[in-house]
Formats: sequence, structure tokens, C-alpha cells
Amino acid sequence: MKHLDYKELFENNEQWINEKLKTSSTFFDELASSQSPDYLMIGCSDSRVPLSSIMKAKAGEFFVHRNIANQVGLTDMNTLSVLEYSVDHLHIKHIIVIGHYRCGGVGAAVDGVDQGLIENWIAPIKELYIKNKQELDSYPTRQASTDRLSELNVIEQTRNIFRTPILERAFNRKNFPKIHGWIFDIYNGKIKELELPIEKWKKEGIVPECY
Ligand SMILES: [Zn+2]
Repeated sequence: MKHLDYKELFENNEQWINEKLKTSSTFFDELASSQSPDYLMIGCSDSRVPLSSIMKAKAGEFFVHRNIANQVGLTDMNTLSVLEYSVDHLHIKHIIVIGHYRCGGVGAAVDGVDQGLIENWIAPIKELYIKNKQELDSYPTRQASTDRLSELNVIEQTRNIFRTPILERAFNRKNFPKIHGWIFDIYNGKIKELELPIEKWKKEGIVPECY
């Protein structure tokens, strides 16, 4: 892949400004006035997952949070602040956790290679691997089991969202977003919707009946 030169970043920005002004002379006045996105996207920091580009979303359409391996930690102030602001103030309609195949964070959880602080960050994925070891070890290749773990990780993070007091409050006032789990298939560019075990979670009391 050709590397983008530092100077090119500014040149590209100039080009982008000109393109936008060509579509509408008031583009930046509208952009500056307010935001009312319908989607909160929680994705991985991986540079190969350009969230807006793969769905051709425009500025103002996605509220975005990214971290390594798209985690929703129940004690992570950063993620929780984004979640609270988007639910309580932006009144977003959909929360989408989007993971991807060949995720380095998920791979590190399987390999157990010491990579410093990231070891702590991905501890919940390691836990998930241990919990599902029998299924995951049955895949023919290490990559296939890691990719499956990426899916399980996405499902686990959506479950965490349901468990936050932020969503509990939204359910109580009967005004809540829909929660989805997606995978970006890096092998062909497609996004896949994962099936969430909503009925099972309802029985466990994680998802309320009104959902
Ligand atoms: Zn990743």
C-alpha cells in the first residue's frame, strides 16, 4: 500500500473542502450548526476499517467511538460517556458494535503474546476465548477460530451495552435505540449482521420484555 505523505494530508484536506463547497456553498454552515446522527458506531481502531467510507456515510451521520477490538467495558468512562451522550442527548436510533475479521486485538487474545498494556485491555476477550475454547478449537485453522472469536466478541459487547444503567434508564422511559452486532468481513469488504440471542437474554433478565 502506498503511504500517504504528511504534506498530502493538508493538500487532500484542501481538495475535500473544495469538493464539499462544489456540492453546496453552505456545506460548512450546516455542518457547524448542529449534529443529529441516527447511529452510534462502536468499532475497532484498526486502520483497515474506515467506518464512514465502507457505508458511504457523510459527515454528521455517525457518532463514533473506537478502541482496540471494539470493547464496551462496563467501567470504561470513555466508552460509557460516549454511550450516555449519544442515548440521552443525541437520541440516536441505532447502536452498532462493529468488529472485523483478522482483528489484531482478538488475535493477541488467542495467541497470548505479551504486547504490554494491550494484554490488560484484551483480558475480557481472553476470558471469552477460554469460555468458548471447545467450539473455537474445532475450527480447521487458527485464523478461522480467531475470526469466529471476533464475532463472539461483538455479541458479548452488545450484551454489555444492554447491561449498562444508561440503557436501563432508556428502557424505563420506553424510548431506546436498537442494538446491533456487525462484522466487517475484511476478506471481501462486506458487512454482516450477527444474530443476537435476544430471547435468551430476555429469559436471563439482561434484555427487558419491552425490547
Ligand atoms: Zn481490530
